[in-house]
Amino acid sequence: MTHDTSNKKILLSGIKSTGRPHIGNYFGAMKQYVDLQGNEYDSRICIVDFHSLTSIHDGEILSQYTLDLAIDFLAIGLDPKLVTIFKQSDVPELMELTWIFNCITTMPYLMRAHAFKDAEAKNKEINVGVFDYPMLMAADILIHNAEIVPVGKDQKQHVEFARDTAEKFNRIFCKTEGLSDEEAEKLNLFKLPEAYIVSDVETVPGIDGQKMSKSYNNHIPLFSEDADITRLVMSIVTDSGASLDANDPMAGIPANVFNIHKLFIGNSDLIAAGKTYLESEETLREFYKSTGGKYKPLKDALAADLIAFITPLRVRRAEIAKDTDAVRTMLAQNGAIIREKVHHLVADVRRKVGFVV
Ligand code: ADP
Repeated sequence: MTHDTSNKKILLSGIKSTGRPHIGNYFGAMKQYVDLQGNEYDSRICIVDFHSLTSIHDGEILSQYTLDLAIDFLAIGLDPKLVTIFKQSDVPELMELTWIFNCITTMPYLMRAHAFKDAEAKNKEINVGVFDYPMLMAADILIHNAEIVPVGKDQKQHVEFARDTAEKFNRIFCKTEGLSDEEAEKLNLFKLPEAYIVSDVETVPGIDGQKMSKSYNNHIPLFSEDADITRLVMSIVTDSGASLDANDPMAGIPANVFNIHKLFIGNSDLIAAGKTYLESEETLREFYKSTGGKYKPLKDALAADLIAFITPLRVRRAEIAKDTDAVRTMLAQNGAIIREKVHHLVADVRRKVGFVV
């Protein structure tokens, strides 16, 4: 690792290795990792394979998904000179921190988590890992003292849980109650992280109009083949969501197609290739209205735009996938670098809670 990371704000985010990423993951989170890489942040991007284990119970598959995701990160343009890509399971100290956080967190508090409530409402069998997910995520963020966490809207509450946990730990173990902010700041171990959410893409819809998610099976994989892209776009549900109110700017526009197409507004490569309807939301809306309510040409245009966007990513990915050993080496080296970086904070935590005699 050659980049200078001293005195920079720490950016931390992660994705589960539970399958192929989709365009919701890309526009909602991964694209921000690329956009924010550079000189301002010490960016650490994590494949959260401890989290993946809550749903994948096949060692070979999990290991393959993790390697695949590392390749995906490189393929979308994350530069290993600017960003440290690592895997969560290379940092076993996270287990220790999660346990410590478990011991200062109540069950009713965790029962407020949307993901838990959602699983419960669907009568799913919930393992303890799923229930404890927010505490592991708090450890993920706080072990770095990360200040900025780029995520989609569905993860906002989890970042708030991490903030609450940092505050709680500071209050209990750093004995800052009653002190001024300035005095407390000197004693606090944990900084309070902020979620970084881009509002236009905070919830990317799937082909059924609900939030795009692997678990809803309504997703368009980020590295899809052309034929799959076309098939998925043609299956976008079009008979719901179109507004009937003539004064509504969305009147007559198939919302489910439009809302996916919106992701490409301002894409300079596509505009340069003649897709001038992508210049603004206004021009895209005009383009939609110009077809007189016919869905087919709109879906054709969306499929063509997706293919034009995805093809170079797929080509780059195939190139990187030729040397998986290089990717494995990168992960192993970065895991060791991250362990070294978090070592001091973990030692301080151990002292504060009383593990040092
Ligand atoms: P999934 O929900 O598909 O299992 P993850 O939970 O691994 O994906 O999410 C990885 C990142 O992608 C998170 O930051 C999450 O907020 C973001 N994300 C997932 N789905 C969407 C979506 N439909 N729209 C915007 N962001 C999303």
